[in-house]
Amino acid sequence: MVLVPLARPVVPNDVPVAAAPDYAVLTTAYEEARGFLAGLGDRHVGVAADAATLRSLLGGALPEGQADPARVIAALSRTMDAGLLGTSTGRFFGWVIGGALPVGIAADWLASAWDQNAAAYATSPATSVMEETCGAWLKSLLGLPPGASFAFVTGCQMAHATALAAARHRLLADRGIDVEAVGLSGAPRLRSLTGQTRHESLLRAARLLGLGTQAIETLPCDEQSRLRLDALESALAGDDRPTIICLQAGDMNTGAFDPFAEACALARAARAWVHIDGAIGLWAAASPRLAHLMEGADQAHSWATDGHKWLNVPQDCGYVFIADTAAHRGAFAQATSFAHAVDATRRQLEWGPEWSRRARALPSYAVISSLGRQGIATMLDRSCDLARLLVEGLSRLDGVEVLAWPQINQALVRFLAAGGDHDALTDSVVEAVQAGGEAWFGSTTWRGMRAMRISVCDWRTTERDVARAVEAVRQAIPSAA
Ligand SMILES: *Cc1c(COP(=O)(O)O)cnc(C)c1O
Repeated sequence: MVLVPLARPVVPNDVPVAAAPDYAVLTTAYEEARGFLAGLGDRHVGVAADAATLRSLLGGALPEGQADPARVIAALSRTMDAGLLGTSTGRFFGWVIGGALPVGIAADWLASAWDQNAAAYATSPATSVMEETCGAWLKSLLGLPPGASFAFVTGCQMAHATALAAARHRLLADRGIDVEAVGLSGAPRLRSLTGQTRHESLLRAARLLGLGTQAIETLPCDEQSRLRLDALESALAGDDRPTIICLQAGDMNTGAFDPFAEACALARAARAWVHIDGAIGLWAAASPRLAHLMEGADQAHSWATDGHKWLNVPQDCGYVFIADTAAHRGAFAQATSFAHAVDATRRQLEWGPEWSRRARALPSYAVISSLGRQGIATMLDRSCDLARLLVEGLSRLDGVEVLAWPQINQALVRFLAAGGDHDALTDSVVEAVQAGGEAWFGSTTWRGMRAMRISVCDWRTTERDVARAVEAVRQAIPSAA
């Protein structure tokens, strides 16, 4: 469909009948998406094209004229393909990047088709009510206080930013400062205590909020990457600065969980706010098998997690929950024209950093509706079982040392070189596996050692994918090593 300029002057009663919109472009997108998804089973997981190739494919001058939308989409699908990383294949184990369940993709399409502005009940009543329900479902799944407030944000980092804004509000309001009105100048300096294995997204959240990274004190962790309670206790002792303690549920490398109950007790005595980064591990609460790992986590003040990782909702999906709903509202609500619209309805913009936005909760609602509590537990348990199977398979290869067995779905191994340069060998094996395209692992530095990180969180992964990945690693280990 091509848009034509309005004929001028428009003659009353003689308006030209516009051609009906042509939605062929949606069929094209559907066919391209189906083709892509159907090919994932055997797709090369890495990317062969380099940046120069991608620039030549996707570059070019700004088009001056119009083009047929269906052709644009078909061409885009083809040119993008060369540079898509196989994160949604079942053989991708890098970083922590989940896949996308078909039901979530479908709901994401509907969210685009409806194009609702999920700012408030007034701008999209169904979206507002759907988010109320989805928030309640998530709290139930994650074992969080039913009265906690929540927001749907872009990812866990913005969940941190939202939670820390509420923490900043509460800690300064308790000291008589209205930070939303007067800002931080003149306020006592906030500090944040985190373990040394904290995720870097916490630092960016602290920067955004004006806390500054220098306000973050890094505390030592034990050999399993859990925050040491003795270090927390002495950091809190005799210090009455407003303090936010950031704990972790599911460390990136080891999947470790901090000792929540003890840490929360120390925090309460010190009137500190406890925030939990549970991008991965908050989901343990949704599996009866793993829920014990989260014991005491409900005592925290705020929790951040992702839908787009382990829940396998498409990208652009983070969740934040805050026990102190007044602090949450205090940080985000303000007088707006929406306030007069419909009372006692959810105005999403009063709970999060954004104004206009898409119906971001819709794919989560659809995924939870489709899997139910039991299906979600099964998906989580499967990932853990497959992670164990994968590490067991790797541990049987010559020269593999397991640095961290999976407690949940994350693990670390490294490769031992006869000459002793394990770091160089580990990097070269990871690179060789990536180049081979059968499987994809990332690398990291853990306790001073280079390691290959394993993250199993794609619903698509099967035992066969695990076997293929183990074989790909076997072939990447030089026989002389
Ligand atoms: C991925 C991750 C984050 C950041 O989440 P985004 O959704 O990428 O913003 C924070 N913490 C941990 C432990 C993570 O794995």
